[in-house]
Amino acid sequence: MYRDSSTSSIVLFGPPGAGKGTQAGNISRVTGKPQVSTGDMLRAAVKEGSQLGIEAKEYMDAGLLVPDKIIIGLISERMAQDDASQGVLFDGFPRTIAQAEELSEITEISMVIMILVPDEEIVERIVGRRMDPETGQIYHVKFNPAPLDIASRLVQRKDDTEDTVRSRLNAYHSQTKPLSNWYKENETVNSALRVISIDGRGSIEQVSALIEKELES
Ligand code: ADP
Ligand code: ADP
Repeated sequence: MYRDSSTSSIVLFGPPGAGKGTQAGNISRVTGKPQVSTGDMLRAAVKEGSQLGIEAKEYMDAGLLVPDKIIIGLISERMAQDDASQGVLFDGFPRTIAQAEELSEITEISMVIMILVPDEEIVERIVGRRMDPETGQIYHVKFNPAPLDIASRLVQRKDDTEDTVRSRLNAYHSQTKPLSNWYKENETVNSALRVISIDGRGSIEQVSALIEKELES
């Protein structure tokens, strides 16, 4: 069983479509840390039509990262809420070294779980992704089909097209991937930090099992 009862947080890291959102629910259940997804928070702001949402939408639709300043503002607000006091599970954040540096001022990170999937597999995963707008549950037309009775209400994210995936993968390689070495270097000088690499190419169940094994060790 996961024994970390501290107030530190966990980072779920990986390319777009790696399976972060899919695995987050289980990790959250095992660790007791609530999931904080910047992607979900941004989509909620876009839906609301807030000033922040209007600004963020242009970047999201183009497959570009939303500016660090906007993201840090969202995270600071979120971390001030009561349920974040025992640490959280960050999903899709931080995505730049600047975000990680700001984050280190806000909460301690005890674990970084990296889910690694090659680019060739990412495109198929993203283009086939569907979401249940009522529950937020993530499905895939081929790898994780939804039950028939809810199939008609599923939606596809506007940025889940082949063109936009290419931009998102570019953003990942140029701005986000360098963070993996940043965290690995941090691990060598910070004994409270554990960085775990998970092969994300297996089935959803296989990846869950690999993560749970690491959480238990
Ligand atoms: P992320 O949050 O990293 O962007 P998601 O969890 O939304 O990724 O997963 C992207 C898509 O790939 C979804 O359609 C999901 O159902 C599917 N998926 C997730 N994990 C796997 C897996 N291990 N094998 C095949 N498809 C997967
Ligand atoms: P995925 O994991 O499938 O790429 P997300 O839902 O995490 O999707 O993010 C969707 C979009 O929201 C990203 O392409 C980016 O424009 C924006 N976004 C989410 N999180 C961040 C972040 N931490 N920094 C900058 N932009 C972000």
